[in-house]
Amino acid sequence: MPTLFKYESGIKFISKPDNMSLIADPTTTKAASNCDAALITHAHTDHSIAFPNKGIKVYSTEIASRLYESLTARKPKNTHFVDFNKKIKVNDIEVKFILAGHLLGAAQIILYFDDMTVCYTGDISTNEMITVPKAEIPDVDIDVLIIESTYGKADLMFDSRERTKISILKWITDSLQNKKIPIINIGHLGGAQELTAFLNEMLSVDIYCDNRTSEINKIYKKEGISLNWNSFDILNDTEFRAENSVIILPRALKEIPEFLKERRIARSIVTGQAARFAFSSFEQAFPFSMHANCNELLNHVQTINPKKVFTLYGFDSEFAAIVRQKLKLFARPMKLAKEKPTLEEYL
Ligand SMILES: [Zn+2]
Ligand SMILES: [Zn+2]
Repeated sequence: MPTLFKYESGIKFISKPDNMSLIADPTTTKAASNCDAALITHAHTDHSIAFPNKGIKVYSTEIASRLYESLTARKPKNTHFVDFNKKIKVNDIEVKFILAGHLLGAAQIILYFDDMTVCYTGDISTNEMITVPKAEIPDVDIDVLIIESTYGKADLMFDSRERTKISILKWITDSLQNKKIPIINIGHLGGAQELTAFLNEMLSVDIYCDNRTSEINKIYKKEGISLNWNSFDILNDTEFRAENSVIILPRALKEIPEFLKERRIARSIVTGQAARFAFSSFEQAFPFSMHANCNELLNHVQTINPKKVFTLYGFDSEFAAIVRQKLKLFARPMKLAKEKPTLEEYL
């Protein structure tokens, strides 16, 4: 019997004859509990819900588990750590984690079933950045590629990351020159560290962030990423140099910290979603993302050259259509794949 795979609040694989079931990035505890083991690609909470549940055998990188803990203040349980590029056995199935970029400790997962080899990318970035390497290409032929499609739409306008970073830099220096404190909202796991590392390289300003981001920064630093920052939660007001400071806030945080309330400020947001939405309550919105854009995703698919492509998250239908048109490969959204779950049916 062939291996079955389908989307069931996560990517579920059922391997015959003994009905062993694995789930990658389950999004509900129930979906994870129904399986023999859960694989987690990275620490973002839309992928990592299975960590704190001790009834579930979880496989992830050690860094992902540590980042999850500092992000959520919840302790991972029953987690087996996986090294990059080392095949391991999860129950009877061989599995390998390879680099995904995106954020520290993030993995793409290769699963070697008897009848097919699958690569599930999780979230990826294919461009080398300061804090993360680029996503690796599997060193085996891939039958089924399950790829994220967060920004998989052709008309989303992303400038190059370098140019966007320079625009952010210019906005910061302009704000400081106008005697305003620049405040930047950005994802506090992934984006905040990349921006901090970049600003450290380019400017001699003091960078302040909240305690939670600060804890994440510490994990990055421990992994050898050079970061310099201060936490404003433990700020001594006398040491704050308004004319030479940049504030980094978590992306969704609307309120500004108390110590900034009487001061002149300028606000911007950094998120890939700025390629889609105006964010008019901010002076500037910069479309910088730790996710691959449409072209980068397409290049990733082309380089891997799998037999079948399934897309997941964001613009899944749109990206599947682009893969079909441009690469002439079989491609469809993962979530519609329930009815035809076996590879055999597609061949
Ligand atoms: Zn992510
Ligand atoms: Zn995600």
